Amino acid sequence: MADSITGTRHEFKDEIRQLLDILVHSLYTNKEIFLRELISNASDALDKLRYERLSAGEPVEEDLDISITADKDKGIITIKDNGVGMSEAEVIANLGTIAHSGTAELLKAASDSKQKVENLIGRFGVGFYSVFMVAKEVIVRTRSYRDSDYQVVWRSDGLGSYDLEPGELGAKRGTSIEIHLRDDAKEFADESRLRSIITRHSNFITFPIYLGKDRDRVDK
Ligand code: ADP
Repeated sequence: MADSITGTRHEFKDEIRQLLDILVHSLYTNKEIFLRELISNASDALDKLRYERLSAGEPVEEDLDISITADKDKGIITIKDNGVGMSEAEVIANLGTIAHSGTAELLKAASDSKQKVENLIGRFGVGFYSVFMVAKEVIVRTRSYRDSDYQVVWRSDGLGSYDLEPGELGAKRGTSIEIHLRDDAKEFADESRLRSIITRHSNFITFPIYLGKDRDRVDK
């Protein structure tokens, strides 16, 4: 791993800083949509894995799923998938910049308007960052499905930078997002609350979603 850039701090690109600033300070109250965005990313990652397997003529695993746990005392929610995961380069490209065009337009729309932040998030495809409406720290652990890749840990308080560290050796494929909730968002670390948000916003997801340590399947 001589050429690895893990163990280093990276500044967010300007457009991300501005976006985070808008998200964190918006008076927007429907913060629960962060969960829909992260579940949708997890589902995309599972779809991509299935596609990769099929294109390579390989069998598709049957246990592709999303698991969500919450620790009420600590105010932590973890969302885990066993999808494609990300390599180090992909983490930097995907969770440090806004890849989509129209960022300037997004920032303008968000800053001058009473436009719903929710609509902007969906329209411009910046869903991941909506987690900072509820999080004081986010830790992403991810390992790509490509065998040569190792696990990468991305950690940020959403202020201006993120840190990358090498992850566990032999970690399983996929991504987990550990959300340390802000004091004013601790209410979300509650399984029944999560269940009702999932049922409301993520009922179109085709992969199983399991909730809690006992892995109760969330019914559609
Ligand atoms: P979008 O999903 O609209 O592309 P996001 O900001 O939500 O925008 O996510 C940025 C990118 O990060 C995604 O396109 C994807 O490549 C990557 N990503 C996010 N979550 C995951 C995940 N759970 N597994 C693999 N890649 C992910």
